[in-house]
Amino acid sequence: MTVQLIDITPNAMEKLAKIASVCYQSKPSEKVVKKILDLGHWSVFEHCYATFKIDMSVAVLLQITRHRHLSFTVQSSRVTELKDWREPEDMRVTIDIEHIMDEYWERFQSGRYSPEELMYMLPKAAIYQVYVTGNFRAWLEYLPKRMCGRAMKEHREIANAIKTILAEKYPEIFEDVKPRCQYCHDTSCLFGKETKKG
Ligand SMILES: Cc1cc2nc3c(=O)[nH]c(=O)nc-3n(C[C@H](O)[C@H](O)[C@H](O)COP(=O)(O)OP(=O)(O)OC[C@H]3O[C@@H](n4cnc5c(N)ncnc54)[C@H](O)[C@@H]3O)c2cc1C
Repeated sequence: MTVQLIDITPNAMEKLAKIASVCYQSKPSEKVVKKILDLGHWSVFEHCYATFKIDMSVAVLLQITRHRHLSFTVQSSRVTELKDWREPEDMRVTIDIEHIMDEYWERFQSGRYSPEELMYMLPKAAIYQVYVTGNFRAWLEYLPKRMCGRAMKEHREIANAIKTILAEKYPEIFEDVKPRCQYCHDTSCLFGKETKKG
């Protein structure tokens, strides 16, 4: 799993302070930005963006694309070969996937099949290179859901890595982002602590 920051709005706090100040014609101030964050007046945060390059399995790709305000560009399995895959923790499953990937790769190299035909063989563990862009509001919506203890482990790792990077760049906006356990009635994850299964 790799998460790499490609690009992020520079001087975002300054930009947001300026934009937020239009509402009440006030003096631009980072305090106002913090206040509107806490109040949930999040449309202001749509003016700033961050782009990441992420290597993710098909399983995560299926989930992350459900977040409708993120934008995606994905490696083509119709044209390119996919060599990498995510190893599950269960060794028996790992061996099965290794077998499928070897078969896929052997057929790919034989030249007897087109990548378009072969892509149906790929397991959900196959790794794709994906660029994901989101405005800050979209990341604020996405992170708590996928950092959640009930989210899939690989996806949770990706969400946590994105959060760490965003919080390093803009702690005022992203440092406090965490799963919204206070609104959740699912007791299976011990209220926000890691699930036993992970
Ligand atoms: C732990 C976990 C388990 C899940 N399990 C399943 C599952 O079993 N099956 C399944 O199908 N999905 C599942 N999902 C996916 C989930 O249902 C959502 O599709 C996904 O999390 C995207 O979030 P979202 O729809 O809240 O918001 P996003 O698409 O990220 O949008 C952000 C926010 O914008 C607003 N918004 C976006 N679109 C609309 C709209 N059309 N109308 C009104 N408001 C809108 C909402 O406020 C929304 O919260 C799961 C997600 C998680 C985190």
